[in-house]
Order: sequence, then C-alpha cells, then structure tokens
Amino acid sequence: MPDVQRIVSPAPSRGTPSTPKGTSIPASQSTPVPPTLSGKPKVYVVELDDGTKRYCFHCPACSYGHQFDSRWTFSGTLECPTFRPSLRLHGGNGCHLNLTAGMIYYHTDSKHGLAGKTVECPDAEE
Ligand SMILES: [Zn+2]
Repeated sequence: MPDVQRIVSPAPSRGTPSTPKGTSIPASQSTPVPPTLSGKPKVYVVELDDGTKRYCFHCPACSYGHQFDSRWTFSGTLECPTFRPSLRLHGGNGCHLNLTAGMIYYHTDSKHGLAGKTVECPDAEE
C-alpha cells in the first residue's frame, strides 16, 4: 500500500501587493452624481395619504411613467437614483428594467425597441 503523503501547507507568500506611491485614491467626491448624468432629478416623489411614497419616472421605452412604491428599495439620490429589485410590467410590452445610478437597463426579455439597451433616465417632468 503506497504511502501517499499529502502535504498541505499555506500557499507561499508572493508578497503583499504594494500600492505605488503617488496613486492615492482621491478623497470622496463632493457630488454623488456622475458627470455623465444631467444632475437634475430623475424621479419625482408622490406622497400618498397613508404616508407611503412613490417614485415616478418617465420610461422612454413606453413613453409614459412607471412608479416604484414601497416594494422597492430606493437608494442614492433623486438625481442619481437606484431601485431594487427590477421593475417589470405584466402584459403590454413586457417592459423590464433596472434603474441603477440614474441609468435604465432594459432587460432583453422586454418586448420593445430598447430591450437590451441602457439609457439615461430622463429628467423628471414637473
Ligand atoms: Zn417601460
């Protein structure tokens, strides 16, 4: 019976990756809005009588507005909003999107011309 020896040892250290000097990470930016965005509110808030809020935005694929209500998690800012999870219409054009950091990501199972595309969320209309 061969005596198989299994030597288990920690992986040899290859040295700690060193951060080159002079490439320090810049301090936190003063604005959370990426320069690609307009900086204007993308969503407007409707507060209902029961105190819940709805976040409305204009969907360029549907040419009308969609709403996120309390079932979704809102983070970010009105100028650079993120909602989780995705929003999906039942019926119609099957619009299925994620609004992340002010950008709308249309899922490929949407049945409209923007399926699979990413567009900036239009500025909220008054
Ligand atoms: Zn839509």
